[in-house]
Amino acid sequence: MAETYDVIVAGLGGVGSAAAYHLAARGKRVLGLEQYTPAHDRGSSHGSSRIIRQAYNEGPGYVPLVLRAYELWEQLERDTNTDLLTITGGLFLGTEDSDVVQGSLRSAREHNLPHELLDAKEIQRKFPVLHPHADHCALYEANAGFLRPEAAVAAHLGLAAQRGAVLHFEEPIADWAVTETGTVRVTTTKATYEAEHLVIAPGAWASNLLKLGTLPLHVRRHVMAWFDPVDGIAPFKSDRFPIYIWQTSNDVIFYGFPATDCEHCGVKAAIHSGGDVCTADSIERSFTHRDIAEIREQLEAYIPALNGKLLHAATCMYTMTLDEHFVVSRHPDYPQVSIACGFSGHGFKFAPVLGEVLADLAIEGHTKHPIDFLSAQRFAK
Ligand SMILES: Cc1cc2nc3c(=O)[nH]c(=O)nc-3n(C[C@H](O)[C@H](O)[C@H](O)COP(=O)(O)OP(=O)(O)OC[C@H]3O[C@@H](n4cnc5c(N)ncnc54)[C@H](O)[C@@H]3O)c2cc1C
Repeated sequence: MAETYDVIVAGLGGVGSAAAYHLAARGKRVLGLEQYTPAHDRGSSHGSSRIIRQAYNEGPGYVPLVLRAYELWEQLERDTNTDLLTITGGLFLGTEDSDVVQGSLRSAREHNLPHELLDAKEIQRKFPVLHPHADHCALYEANAGFLRPEAAVAAHLGLAAQRGAVLHFEEPIADWAVTETGTVRVTTTKATYEAEHLVIAPGAWASNLLKLGTLPLHVRRHVMAWFDPVDGIAPFKSDRFPIYIWQTSNDVIFYGFPATDCEHCGVKAAIHSGGDVCTADSIERSFTHRDIAEIREQLEAYIPALNGKLLHAATCMYTMTLDEHFVVSRHPDYPQVSIACGFSGHGFKFAPVLGEVLADLAIEGHTKHPIDFLSAQRFAK
């Protein structure tokens, strides 16, 4: 006989760990299955920092979700007595007509979010290490900041276990199927389990696990790098330097953070646009001279004080959809399965609200959160 549960969560990364917690908190008997160790660095939820922001340039539809995510991150900090979220302010920069500036302005205005518009001179006066072009401007948002992804995953996992979730690590799922009685049977390399509902949060392994050939997803390799600032760390400390997302041409967006918790670890910067197409199983995990040169080119032009010695670099994966919006919905072919994937490089900040959404979908079959625009069905049309 297979062990039985109310809900099985497949994948315990950023999103699956949150789903496991929210399901367990609502009294469900939960089994979480993860192929690697807790808060590992081989998926998409590692690298010590993730941006969180409200004036969402990817679309105003995300704003209600992110506002709820802020509440839940703060709750998670209180519940686990850990420091997960640091508010630093955020700058979204580019020319006035760039997607980053126009998109964040639209969300700020539609949702009445506090913000300021700065021209190039004001940007430089407030943040002297930034060197914008004369035609660059920025939306400044005081509420933006960064999250600590490894600590956040560990916090969700810890609370999930406290609430009775059974969590198995280093146990890859080989397959799943819906049984004749309508339950879901999940087979791993070690055992077979059965549940009323399956939540799949597979990150970059989506195409292996989803059984949804019509979903157009591809994986891109992205490199994060930590630099030692040329004139010392002081101008990059988080009490005076914000997170930023900078569109420097039509097709280049780079971003970065202030110095985080560990000063000698340097200051992180990376490129959001582009990235080599890869798969989760074949990605080149070591970084190359070209990876770093691409980041340095942006730093040299726009933040030369950060273009110092390279201290560390790491690869990470974006799972892209065609429209770069997430897929969070019931599985189109199996009502007892919910899916969350295709985060297109901007999903982490939403993890706790997605945990809440996935718990709603598994338990109630629907959610009050506004997620219609994230339905898997949009690609079937
Ligand atoms: C460089 C980089 C920078 C980013 N910056 C930001 C940012 O600033 N702000 C932001 O909001 N987002 C950002 N993102 C995106 C965000 O980090 C991701 O959208 C988010 O972490 C995805 O979470 P996930 O749970 O879908 O994937 P993951 O955290 O990768 O979790 C998926 C899990 O499923 C497991 N799994 C897969 N297949 C199996 C199987 N067969 N059996 C068992 N387990 C399995 C994997 O091992 C993994 O642990 C960034 C991403 C990267 C790579």
